[in-house]
Amino acid sequence: MKSFSNRILAWAAVHGRQSLPWQQIRSPYRVWISEIMLQQTQVATVIPYFERFMARFPDCASLAAAPLDEVLHHWSGLGYYARARNLHRAAVQLCAQHGGDFPPDIEATIALPGIGRSTAGAIHALSRGARHPILDGNVKRVLARHCAVAGVPDEPKTLKALWALAEALTPTTHVAAYTQAIMDLGALVCTRHTPRCALCPVVDSCEAFQAGQVSEFPARRVRRALPERATQFLILNNPSGEWLLERRPPNGIWGGLWGFPELSAQETVEDWGLRHGLVLQLSLPAPPPVVRVFTHFRLTISPVRATTDTRARRIMDSDRWLWYNNALPANVGLAAPVASIIAQLSAEPKGTTS
Ligand code: SF4
Repeated sequence: MKSFSNRILAWAAVHGRQSLPWQQIRSPYRVWISEIMLQQTQVATVIPYFERFMARFPDCASLAAAPLDEVLHHWSGLGYYARARNLHRAAVQLCAQHGGDFPPDIEATIALPGIGRSTAGAIHALSRGARHPILDGNVKRVLARHCAVAGVPDEPKTLKALWALAEALTPTTHVAAYTQAIMDLGALVCTRHTPRCALCPVVDSCEAFQAGQVSEFPARRVRRALPERATQFLILNNPSGEWLLERRPPNGIWGGLWGFPELSAQETVEDWGLRHGLVLQLSLPAPPPVVRVFTHFRLTISPVRATTDTRARRIMDSDRWLWYNNALPANVGLAAPVASIIAQLSAEPKGTTS
């Protein structure tokens, strides 16, 4: 039987993905941006974001020189914004310390913000053909099934076993093609649900398949119910029909993005107005509550609407506040639920915003 890598390489030469935008020019920078975007996000969603990002930030220097607000603006809608903040920080470091390119040493790459061992391996393997294994979600699944690795993949003992396999199975030649091929196999054949084993090039040596236990690998973590949290978004209009937005703290959910001011679950609109020296009037019925699920909790967001008859100069003195005009949108990143509420409010007939 041919080796594991040779079978996957032969399969990918015919069935692998060849035309994704980041495959066209495989520079370390482009591989890096695509790998970070593809974490937690589907390929079809990433493609237009990647193309817009590359048009605006074609290299490390342009990314490092851009204001963070603009980077977040280009990330708006992709979620997990720590990824964008880390990209920006890493670009600044790459320019300051490595002349705007990735260092040849993989450990120096792993030391950059937001780059783990698998992403560093992908950057070096895909763009330079350097022999470094990767272990993203697709590869973990293929290896866990093919080699019947017990245990939840993210637990240290299981992870160690998977890394050892990834290292052992990565060939010494054709590393870039193999790295792409095993990712493609996970994405197209050895899928999370209903894997297509009849089409798999490594079915003859797949331990999970041979044992009739494909659905048991990789083991799943038992999920506990997420804690519930609640907040209120204050949708505050001024007489020009603009909405007041506040820059969120750099860390935490939607870190560094702009959003509606938040009221604690107990705070009233009047309390918030008093706290900021403003007289507010409650206005039209607000959009219905929305629920967002995060890694560690579920958040119910209840919008409340109010108007003010001033442009609230007092709070506008800080660069923490912005009157957002949807007809002339500022180049800033909006938290996803804020963008969707603004889209909803903008679709209302004129004259109903205040
Ligand atoms: Fe995955 Fe099935 Fe191939 Fe095994 S035979 S690696 S389970 S697709």
